Order: sequence, then structure tokens, then C-alpha cells
Amino acid sequence: MRIDIPQKILLEVEKPARYIGNEMNMVKKNPEDVDIRFAYCFPDVYEVGMSHIGSTILYHFLNEREDTYCERVYSPWHDMEEKMRENNIPMYALETYTPIKEFDFLGFTLQYEMSYTNILNILDLGGIPKYSKDRTEEDPLVIAGGPCAYNPEPLAPFVDFFYIGEGEVLYYEILDLYKAIRSKGGSKEDFLEKVLQFEGVYVPKFYDVQYKENGEIESFTPNHPDAKEKIKKVHVKDVDNSYYPTNPIMPLIQVVHDRAVIELFRGCIRGCRFCQAGMIYRPVRQKDPKKLAKLADDILGNTGYEEVSLISLSSSDYTDLNEITDHLFDKHCDVNLSLPSLRVDEFSLDLMDRLSKGKKSSLTFAPEAGTQRLRDVINKNISEDDILSGVALAFKGGWDKVKLYFMMGLPTETMEDISGIKDLAYSIVDQYFGVPKEERARNLKVTVSTSFFVPKPFTPFQWFPQNTYDEFMAKQALLNSEIRNRKIQYNCHDAKLSALEGIVARGDRRVADVIYHAWKNGSKFDGWSDHFVYDKWVKAFEECNIDGDFYHTRERSYDEILPWDFINIGVTKAFLWKEFEKAINEEVTPNCREKCSNCGVSKIDKGACYEKEN
Ligand code: SF4
Repeated sequence: MRIDIPQKILLEVEKPARYIGNEMNMVKKNPEDVDIRFAYCFPDVYEVGMSHIGSTILYHFLNEREDTYCERVYSPWHDMEEKMRENNIPMYALETYTPIKEFDFLGFTLQYEMSYTNILNILDLGGIPKYSKDRTEEDPLVIAGGPCAYNPEPLAPFVDFFYIGEGEVLYYEILDLYKAIRSKGGSKEDFLEKVLQFEGVYVPKFYDVQYKENGEIESFTPNHPDAKEKIKKVHVKDVDNSYYPTNPIMPLIQVVHDRAVIELFRGCIRGCRFCQAGMIYRPVRQKDPKKLAKLADDILGNTGYEEVSLISLSSSDYTDLNEITDHLFDKHCDVNLSLPSLRVDEFSLDLMDRLSKGKKSSLTFAPEAGTQRLRDVINKNISEDDILSGVALAFKGGWDKVKLYFMMGLPTETMEDISGIKDLAYSIVDQYFGVPKEERARNLKVTVSTSFFVPKPFTPFQWFPQNTYDEFMAKQALLNSEIRNRKIQYNCHDAKLSALEGIVARGDRRVADVIYHAWKNGSKFDGWSDHFVYDKWVKAFEECNIDGDFYHTRERSYDEILPWDFINIGVTKAFLWKEFEKAINEEVTPNCREKCSNCGVSKIDKGACYEKEN
């Protein structure tokens, strides 16, 4: 059934283009001609979802199959939701305006814990029961994947199965299985039992959790004979020959990242101890620069973009960066090149010169901590000299805007470390004034941004308590009072939002009811600080009789069963614990190219760590 969206409604909402689809490069198929309808749901607004490269890959990858039609679903903004509810318009997919209830699969990507209430809202708008136990054969199967799926438990009761790992690996096999079972008249239950055969698939209902009196997990055990004790992540081994779309959809309105995107590599060699991505996406898998050059040519040709973003967790660690940037500058001289995640220690004057041919935007550095001691704790292998010489080069190269990102509340942090943020920012200002007037640009602006540290699963910091709200505020107040320089602007995050993110990130199944109650109380778009209402969550915790501090400010022991311990990312718990202890002792660990630290990931594929082989 195709639904009609009255034009009157579209004219009354902000940015109607969010809801109409039909962009250039959108995949068009006849729904009658396919066997499988897949709604790929990004639980945030269109502009955010359209900027996510993982979604672009999966959308086109699934649509490569003739028997499958993958369509897109984004969270409607408040104004549109209101109109949809008033006019009984169900949640629909952008390609064919089909209500999501009519799809075989709803696949949610979990990029951020604070989007979980949006998932419930999408289900609700689609007329689909939120809890999987209440759904019938008529309802779609709800899947969830993405980085937050590595701790699936806070969403366990809502999701039929989780996909742990990179989408290109298993989706075709899963869809083949579904088609085979459905064509023989099999039920959803038959499918869920059979899907257990795959690595990387977690079906929550086939597992039971028991709790101790103190609230910790007593046991976590399969209750189905085919359910695996450990769920092993799946990842792409041959990144050069894996699927990458060259015809991304061109949004009709400005989205967050409106440019061609090329992925340089997956994984990260660095081993920062706060970073979940650096652990779950190991090992590093670099793409061949020649293949990347061809991809860039194709994408620029198919889209008309004039800006390319070379992305990865740490782009300057790409060993052939010169080759690919040479190609882009030589062949597409009018193309701007943005390199997110550059590390200041590797910043080359040569590359800066080339980049300055394009427009000079702000330079962004992420020292994360203000003192060397704390940078050693977090294993951010950057010295103050690296940072200062990096910005000095930048100032000589004509830049005059620097953005610096720090975290507050890192393990072992003291007030001296907080003052260190100010000291570093002041030293950067001094560097600017140390460059002769005629060589530097005019208007220095240093922006210092601090976020609050949230310990994440599968990091060496997963056992640490998070700072309390009062501790966060005291640190923020100190820095606010210390920064007294007109060249420096200080921005800070919402401490309550970070505290809540911490609870959900390390939550277990019991937190699911809190998420449900928070949604019932009206929470949505929680990741948007201007839409986040802390009190709705406080009420939800009270309604569920759950103590948030249990998840938030409590230190865990090595022996405790953590809610995500049943997932095998390759990196071992013993390695993470060793890194935890090294953090306390302020010892650093070399990056993977300097020395392998035997994190364990080489065993996940029977002996292959691609980084070690290179
Ligand atoms: S096995 Fe060694 S080189 Fe490979 S990711 Fe782990 S620590 Fe790095």
C-alpha cells in the first residue's frame, strides 16, 4: 500500500525534503518484482542519517540484489511527527511511501545510545509493537547493528536479532536463508532458530540472564541448543574487493556531511584506551590507493561533488596518503579535500600546503587531555611538543582557526589536569604570536571544546566509574573560570546527557524498561541537547525502580560478568585488563606498527592480523 502525504502537510513542516525521497541516485524498483522488502532505519533526522557512510554502503549493497528492495526510513522531526499522528499517517519508507509495517525487515543502525528512544518512536509510528514478544507473523523482523550493537542488552527485548560486525559479510546469507524459509511457508520463529547458525548473529530471546542480589549478573546462558555461548563479530577481510557504492544518493537539502566520501581503511593502529571503535574494529585493513583513486573518480563523476572526504579513524595513519592525495589534486584540481581525524603529530607541511589550495577551514586537533601524564593514561601518544610544533606549522601555513577537543572525567584525572587544558590552549596562543606578523594570518581564534568522558564497553576503561554529575560540574566550572583570554572560546557539553549515555552504554537488559518508560514519558531525539529532558529519564528510572548509579558511578571488578562479555570481538578481556592496569600506572602501549601488543584479534581469523602481515 502506498500512502499519500497531503501536500498541505508538507508545506506546513520545516524542511519537507526530509520526507519526500526521489533524490538523484535513489534506487527505484517495482516492489511487486522483489521477494524481500528491507527498511533501513536510521533513528535520527534525515540530515544526520544521509551523512552516514555505513548507511550508504548497506543501502546500495542490499539493493544490488535483484530480489531485494532496500528503502530508507529516518526519524521524523517533531513537527512532522505531530502532523503524522494528527492525520493517522503511519511511518513510511522514502522510496515507495510504503508503511514500515509491510516490510519483511526493519534494520536499525545503532550509532549512538541516545537515539534508542527514537527507535521505539519509529516502531510506534509504524503501528508495530515495541517489545518483540508482542509482535506477530504480520509484523516485520526487527534487526539492529552498528557500533552500539556490541552491547545489545539495553535493546534486547525490542530487537529480534542483532548483527554484530560489518554488514557486507553476512547479510546476503541471512536474506537467502529468509527467502528459503519463507518460500516453504516457514514462520518467523523458524527463521530465528535457523539464523543461529551464523557467526555474528545474536537472538536475545534464546538467552537467559540471572542476577545476583547485589545486582551484578550471576549467569548469562543460551536456552536454545543452537544458540552459541559466544557471539563472534564478523568483519570484512578483503577490503579492496568488498562492495563500495559509487553512486551515492544526492540529498535535496544540505545535510551534515555533503560531499563524496572515501573510506581509507577500517580499524585503527593507535589503541587509545577510551576509544571503543579502536578496539571493536581491529585489525586495521587498508585499501589499495589505486582502487581508492578509481572510486573517487567514479563517485565525483556520478555526483558532481567538489569535495572529497577521506575518512577512517585516523586518516594520517594511511600509509599511502600522498599517493591518493596526489591523485585527487592532480586529476581533480578543483576538489577540496577534507581529512577528518588528522593527528597533529603526523601533520605534514607538505599536505597542509596542498590543502590550502582549497578553502582554509578550521584545523581540528584532539589532544583529549591537558597534561602529558593524563595523555599517557589514555594512551594518546602525543606530546605537548608535537601539538605545539603542529600548530606552529599551521599558523605559518596561514591558518588562524584551531579547534581543540578534550574530555573531562577521564580515569585518574585531577584538577591539575583540568588546568592543563587551559595551559595548553594558552601555549597555542603563544605559538601564534611567536610567528612573525607578516607570516601569519590575521585573526586567531582557538576554540576549546570539552565533552564528558563516557566509559564504553570493550575498552580498557570499561571497568572505571564515570564521574558524578557534581564532579563533572566542578571541573567545568574550574576551566570556565580559568580561561580568560579573548582569543580562546570555551564550549562545553551537557553533563546530564553524558551521565545518561554512560548508563545506557554499559547497561544490561533491565535498562530496556527504563528506555521504554523514558519514551513513554515523551523522550526522543535525546542526543540533541536542546531536546533532551533529563527529568523524563529520572522519572523513568523511578518508575522502573532502577538505580542509575549502579551502571554509572560504580567501579567493576575483573571477575564481574559484564553484560557484553558474551560477545567476542577478537581483542581479549585479558588484554583490555592489562591496558586498564597500564593506564593506572601511566604506562603507554606502542601502536600496532611500532610493536604488536598481542591484543588477541589475530586469533579471530585463525592467525591473521593484516596489520602484522604488512
Ligand atoms: S594483533 Fe597486534 S598488530 Fe594486530 S591489532 Fe592486535 S596489537 Fe595490533
